[in-house]
Amino acid sequence: MSSARLIVLIEDDAELRGALVHAFAAHAFRIEPASCAREGLQMVAAHGADLVILDVGLPDLDGREACKVLRGQGHTMPILLLTAAGSDADAILGLEAGASDYLVKPVGFAHLLARVRAQLRVFDDSRNATYQIGPYTFHQSRRLLVDDTGRKIRLTDMEARLLKRLCRAGGARVARDELMVEIWDYSAGANSHTVQTHIYRIRQKLGSDPRGASLLKTEEEGYSLQLASSYVQRPQTGVSNG
Ligand code: CA
Repeated sequence: MSSARLIVLIEDDAELRGALVHAFAAHAFRIEPASCAREGLQMVAAHGADLVILDVGLPDLDGREACKVLRGQGHTMPILLLTAAGSDADAILGLEAGASDYLVKPVGFAHLLARVRAQLRVFDDSRNATYQIGPYTFHQSRRLLVDDTGRKIRLTDMEARLLKRLCRAGGARVARDELMVEIWDYSAGANSHTVQTHIYRIRQKLGSDPRGASLLKTEEEGYSLQLASSYVQRPQTGVSNG
């Protein structure tokens, strides 16, 4: 299982679909294509998604209706609508259906990639985005772990960033080198010992609960988390304030 972000692309135009699959894969995303709403909704139900790109003009269901279905099911990931119609009314209907953003076709890939990254960033940083790690709820933006008795454990910025990176991997192994590059960005003389020290401190914090001991596992040249589940669903947010 890769730690790359998963995009579900629901687009009936085979040529555009193929081009986007190729382009996103080249930018280290995992991408699952679907050619109709039904297939796409099934895909999200089966595998989840970090983000959904949804064409409005689909053969079986209006993309905005598919968007409503996803939100109705409690999915909170960013949803980007692709619309051929450029009128304000269409965009507003899309946003009212719970879309995070929309792009008018023809879509330039650089533009789409920028929107995708921006939406993922907003979602990651969202105050309400939490992860469940064993008995703990991790409030990433507040750098806080809360166990099931309500006890709070504070994390440092680096600890929270490390934990967030491991959460994003959804329980899969993340290599120590990867953490070093992503969290410390080669700066401040970070080395593998730096990572190990931070992991040790997080483990101590998790381990103060007897059930926490095995939550953060050492894997070959890396680490993984024992997640209770993937993303905890946020309440439906509807129209974003952007
Ligand atoms: Ca279409």
